[in-house]
Amino acid sequence: MRIVVLLKAVPVVGNEKLVDGWRVDRSAGLEANGNDEYVLEAGLKLIEQHGGELVTLTMCPTPAMEAIRKALAMGAARAVHVQDPALAGSDTLATGLVLSAALRKLEYDLVFAGADTSDGQGGIVGAAVASRLGLPYLSYAARIEPDPGAGTVRVRRISATGYDVIEAPMPAFVAGTQLLGEPRYPSLRGIMQARQKEIASWTLADVGVEPSSVGSAASQTEVDSATPPPPRGGATVVREAPEVAAERIVEFLASRRLV
Ligand SMILES: Cc1cc2nc3c(=O)[nH]c(=O)nc-3n(C[C@H](O)[C@H](O)[C@H](O)COP(=O)(O)OP(=O)(O)OC[C@H]3O[C@@H](n4cnc5c(N)ncnc54)[C@H](O)[C@@H]3O)c2cc1C
Repeated sequence: MRIVVLLKAVPVVGNEKLVDGWRVDRSAGLEANGNDEYVLEAGLKLIEQHGGELVTLTMCPTPAMEAIRKALAMGAARAVHVQDPALAGSDTLATGLVLSAALRKLEYDLVFAGADTSDGQGGIVGAAVASRLGLPYLSYAARIEPDPGAGTVRVRRISATGYDVIEAPMPAFVAGTQLLGEPRYPSLRGIMQARQKEIASWTLADVGVEPSSVGSAASQTEVDSATPPPPRGGATVVREAPEVAAERIVEFLASRRLV
């Protein structure tokens, strides 16, 4: 089984900041996107079960070593980092273009992505990549069950009414949720082994994408403005004994027609 996990390097949660032109400030350090660690975990378990190789793929105009090294320490076999100064300012369509071009150079049965990211939160890059590559797209996965013999993958998908079970031929693209299960912590051995693992650095030329197709100039969307959310209203703290507190909470919710 060959799995590629799309792993985005995002600003450390809590440190997100915008700089000129409404760009995400990446100078204070990057970490692996939380949701991507859940699909990585699911992928690692599948490799343990079926054998094969899991590779991570990251597009980031700046170095993203911490995020990539953590994925390698968790168990990914190797990593590919598409890094090129021309990528700065790329919107979702441009990101989808580059990731799909990189995937054309890799071999896979399954491509995994997180549901969304903690910085951009678009939740669309996976679908953009799958559609460019003509891959079946299985989203909101809570369980992923490939059948290598039959060449199919079955996904338990969160739906409005519970779960759907959907099946597609491989190669396929799966966007996963946190219901896939908690990511493992890298072991000391994993951290040591990660130092020896390959991190391939690819440029736009390596993936066959013209610099003029990406970056701010080529992006079809533009951030007009961005404002921080309004401060939260004061919280109501209930300190009574549990049975009284329960009544207070129900009264509070009922007063807002929430129960
Ligand atoms: C006008 C505009 C300008 C922008 N300019 C910049 C800029 O200058 N610098 C900048 O850093 N960002 C910029 N962005 C944001 C950038 O386009 C997004 O970071 C990118 O498209 C990913 O979108 P997202 O974070 O919403 O991912 P989502 O769609 O929420 O991601 C879903 C999943 O796709 C995968 N994925 C997403 N992005 C990547 C990636 N890069 N590598 C690997 N896997 C990935 C992950 O598995 C992720 O969980 C800009 C966006 C717009 C609209």
